[in-house]
Amino acid sequence: RTQHSALRTNLKNHINPALWQLLTKASQEATKRGWHLYVVGGAVRDLLLAQNIQQEPLLLKDIDLVVDGFHESADAGAGVELATALQKLYPNARLDVHGAFQTAALLWHKDPELDSLWVDIATARTEFYPYPAANPEVEASSIRQDLYRRDFTINAMALRLTTPRAGELLDYFNGLIDLEARQMRVLHPNSFIEDPTRIYRGVRFAVRLGFTIESQTESYIRYAINSGVYDRTARENNKTPALSTRLKAELKLILEAPYWKRALELLDNLSALQCIHPTLKLNVELLRQLRLLERCLQRFDNSQAITHWLLRLEAIIAHLAPEFRSKVATNLQLPDDSIKRLSHFSKAMDNIAGLTECRLKSQVVGLLKKYDLETLILAALQSQRSIRRSIWQYISVWRFVQAPLNGNDLQKLGYKPGRAFKEMLDDLLAATLDGVVNDRVSAEAFLSQKYPL
Ligand code: ATP
Repeated sequence: RTQHSALRTNLKNHINPALWQLLTKASQEATKRGWHLYVVGGAVRDLLLAQNIQQEPLLLKDIDLVVDGFHESADAGAGVELATALQKLYPNARLDVHGAFQTAALLWHKDPELDSLWVDIATARTEFYPYPAANPEVEASSIRQDLYRRDFTINAMALRLTTPRAGELLDYFNGLIDLEARQMRVLHPNSFIEDPTRIYRGVRFAVRLGFTIESQTESYIRYAINSGVYDRTARENNKTPALSTRLKAELKLILEAPYWKRALELLDNLSALQCIHPTLKLNVELLRQLRLLERCLQRFDNSQAITHWLLRLEAIIAHLAPEFRSKVATNLQLPDDSIKRLSHFSKAMDNIAGLTECRLKSQVVGLLKKYDLETLILAALQSQRSIRRSIWQYISVWRFVQAPLNGNDLQKLGYKPGRAFKEMLDDLLAATLDGVVNDRVSAEAFLSQKYPL
């Protein structure tokens, strides 16, 4: 009991008082209805991790709560009912109900006290991986089963908020021991076969938290990979929620995190990049390209016009043999632009190879201007040095060059607007790029010589 109250006090001390108050109100609402309420998953893990770092406040952006019956299972709508009751107390919060899964979410948007908080409230679920009936204990059995369907032991702990025994840690699978040993241990051997995206989740948490993957868990991962995960990911593309959609979501989380490179290395060590495509390897060449991409994003994307994680993923896919790119991009349900880029990438590469023949800047610009920035960057990564340099120069300087005169100026000079204008302006721009023209006077001279009035 002392330990229970210590954990509860810890939670209270580590989180923002307004959030503590919200959890207190949620527990009161649950108790009124004869239910138990638990914080589960990531928040419990992060609280236990933060315990040793006394000064650090715990920044909980999303919290998962689970409602469970006190004497018997709570009915399926309990989570939704609790969320609705809370929304009445917090009119600022938006309530989203997901009927199919009987879960509800309360969302705050830039609230002065709760900031952008996301609270998911679910009813303890037992339907997915029923725990063997060997357990005669009735109390807390549905929360136990709810925890059993989760991924890793460190993510499968619950902290009881309601009395009696508020503050009790429910740790049926020794998550605390694994947390202390700093290791990721999966709950059951078939876990990765049931859901291969858990491999990516495991790697993401391992790298983020500086944990290792426990050796038995690693062998389950390797077993799942050898059973042909890619085929499944591709095949189950049409189901909802599709495996490939979840894989894409995991890839996004990994590729937008500062630790993306270490995560890719670990995925590669586990042969798990095969989930993307069986031939995908993080070899020296791909690593070199990804490093180049980083430098390039730092240099050219000050305005954040490019979605960095997506371009990293496109660079990875572009590294595959041409015949696989489009299918992989489609399987992962990347945005249409990305699919198009990757489908046309080998043609673009062939075309861009023509830069070696270009002697003039205007020829370089003429060749590159039909491509979007992302294609150019992807092409640069795979091109020889001289071509890469031309692409960098085009991206950083040449694409912004403008002729000293525009259409209005041409009219003022006495030229009649019409189809010829475009050709004249193109010529003028080419002459500007190539240094033949550099101000209005030289531009006018250039025009009067080439297009006498
Ligand atoms: P983060 O700090 O990255 O948000 P989290 O643990 O809260 O970490 P979520 O993706 O929000 O991660 O998932 C919440 C909880 O749901 C997890 O802690 C885990 O218990 C469970 N979970 C999520 N995805 C899966 C999955 N694919 N398989 C099993 N359990 C999962």
